[in-house]
Amino acid sequence: MMVAMSPTASRDRLLGDLDEEQREAVLAPRGPVCVLAGAGTGKTRTITRRIAHLVTAGHVAPGQVLAVTFTQRAAGEMRGRLRALDDGTGTGSVQAQTFHAAARRQLAYFWPRVVGTTDWQLLDSKFAVVAQAANRSGLPTGTDNVRDLAGEIEWAKASLISPEDYPATVAESGRDIPFDAAKVAAAYAGYEALKARGNDLMLLDFDDLLLHTAAAIENDAAVAQEFRDRYRCFVVDEYQDVTPLQQRVLDAWLGTRDDLTVVGDANQTIYSFTGASPRYLLDFSRRFPDAAVVRLERDYRSTPQVVSLANRVIAAARGRMAGSRLHLVGQRPPGPNPTFNEYPDEVAEAAAVARSIKKLVESGTAPAEIAVLYRINAQSEVYEEALTEAGVPFQVRGGEGFFSRQEVRQALLALQRAGDRDTALALPELVRATLEPLGLTAEPPAGTRARDRWEALAALADLVDDEVAQRPQLDLRTLLTELRQRADSRHPPVVQGVTLASLHAAKGLEWDAVFLVGLADGTLPISHALSHGPDSEPVEEERRLFYVGITRARVHLTLSWALARNPGGRQGRRPSRFLNGIAPQSARDDGPSRSRKPRGPAPRCRVCNAPLSASAAIMLRRCETCPSDIDEQLLADLKDWRLRISKEMSVPAYVVFTDNTLIAIAESLPGDDAALVAIPGIGARKLEQFGADVLGLVRDRQKS
Ligand code: ATP
Ligand code: MG
Repeated sequence: MMVAMSPTASRDRLLGDLDEEQREAVLAPRGPVCVLAGAGTGKTRTITRRIAHLVTAGHVAPGQVLAVTFTQRAAGEMRGRLRALDDGTGTGSVQAQTFHAAARRQLAYFWPRVVGTTDWQLLDSKFAVVAQAANRSGLPTGTDNVRDLAGEIEWAKASLISPEDYPATVAESGRDIPFDAAKVAAAYAGYEALKARGNDLMLLDFDDLLLHTAAAIENDAAVAQEFRDRYRCFVVDEYQDVTPLQQRVLDAWLGTRDDLTVVGDANQTIYSFTGASPRYLLDFSRRFPDAAVVRLERDYRSTPQVVSLANRVIAAARGRMAGSRLHLVGQRPPGPNPTFNEYPDEVAEAAAVARSIKKLVESGTAPAEIAVLYRINAQSEVYEEALTEAGVPFQVRGGEGFFSRQEVRQALLALQRAGDRDTALALPELVRATLEPLGLTAEPPAGTRARDRWEALAALADLVDDEVAQRPQLDLRTLLTELRQRADSRHPPVVQGVTLASLHAAKGLEWDAVFLVGLADGTLPISHALSHGPDSEPVEEERRLFYVGITRARVHLTLSWALARNPGGRQGRRPSRFLNGIAPQSARDDGPSRSRKPRGPAPRCRVCNAPLSASAAIMLRRCETCPSDIDEQLLADLKDWRLRISKEMSVPAYVVFTDNTLIAIAESLPGDDAALVAIPGIGARKLEQFGADVLGLVRDRQKS
């Protein structure tokens, strides 16, 4: 049984470890409160303490508080913190939910009274209905087209734009859209009509849950009365992400009352394209002139070095959101300076990042405390490859690994089929011709989903160019076999590995070490944002994305970019414009030679003595096509041993050693520690962990 603490003890517990401004926000009387807070300043900590304080001090009953946020993860985080603060006063029973979950619950309760006998059903996936509507309006019905159309419908509904108003609003806002606006409007109207299934059933999508909830409260005085009696105190986290539709629900909940606490950071607005708008946060004190406005500037997450860089990046921002920026003050002990590295190509960049990560892991940083963050998902491929080669476990967040992506699997199947036909085309041309019908057009298409697919196919084509540049004789059969091997060597994803994530998927998270990669102009800011003009709002949103990325790092922060995609490719890229005046000149002037590992003599094949550049070949220390002098029995023994060890350690086999490392061992038959560490992929840590075992296996085999 829980025993309530004395009032003084509770107060100390809730306020003792807060700073002055956080305490001010917690202690503000019931009524409008706005906390404008930068990244890592303790926003979530502050609002959960405020709720606990209001409940503990008896200002409000726990059942009368409704706390809302935007993702399930954030809602769960809030519930967890509230439970932890419960000292017998009921704080843990406060409702903390997403807007959608709260609306769904309320709608289920009020529906019979408001609508009567027509039943409703939640449309978990709107895909089939949108596809039908697209078809009737003469729009294409490919998977990506339907998803992009669904995205437009969601944006319009979240922004409270009707089908009739859609074309004019799109034209006015300069929004990039993938199709003809009039056709989208027709499909949107058609989609809404298709959801009404006669008199007995209505299909509701997630946005309808919000629309109907707002309407029920707005249109029915009795419903409004009952609801407002029940909930009296509202709290919203990440308020800069609110959409006009969610704001309408919030207004319906409030009525004429003003007991609302909001927390947000306009400079972390990175979801404008879904309809989120920081204007409600920025206008809060205009709407509620009595509001207590508290600014939090102490950053408890990152070192002063990381915080200073974040401040400099956001200082260059323009526009309304920039006006609300706060100068963050780092509270943690000092750490290393962020580093800036330029590379000739992405393969070199990824290899260097993998080496640094390996070093961090070997010196004791857990892989789960490290992240590689990039702008678009297709950038993951080179990092998946480099980390696999380095034997570092990883997981790709918010998406599957490159080779598991649907378009990449489709592409490999199409290439397989192309190989069955006779063709006179050179390999790079053959690949591009095969991928074109799958979506690899000359220029990237409009539409988020279609562009995503395009980027993945382009990454695959680039990868082929790279391989062919190194091995002009490469044929399709060999290429496909190698790509399959690459794909196979990558599974399975591990939970405790290094995180690979897009900047969008990294929001709200933090790691000890963060690598911000691919910081080239045209990637960040992304080219389609640049097409709106250098000072446009889309470019400003890209800058905020960069700011979100920087502020994920607690201690180590490494920023890098490459001048070309492929080794030997034209070095036509430039560092991101966001680095102007921020990256030290030296990273660029003499950057490549400074930042890259000094190169010794180029590694050569030990069979034919040709220079080696492909990472797999360097690992094997011979051309992959040169005959192998492998001891097959030893390789089998090594694999058995690896299986046993990986089971004992509960890690995937490649975490122990990759296949290529085992092959290199079985070929070079190392006799001592020095010979063992000469094999790429074996460092001090692996030597210490496995050296004795491996040398023992080699010796046993030579004796037999
Ligand atoms: P984000 O912008 O990423 O959402 P946030 O502002 O919500 O960040 P929190 O997650 O609440 O930040 O806090 C960041 C970290 O700082 C947490 O580990 C939290 O426990 C810690 N922290 C917050 N306030 C204090 C404080 N007064 N003293 C010590 N640590 C604190
Ligand atoms: Mg937070």
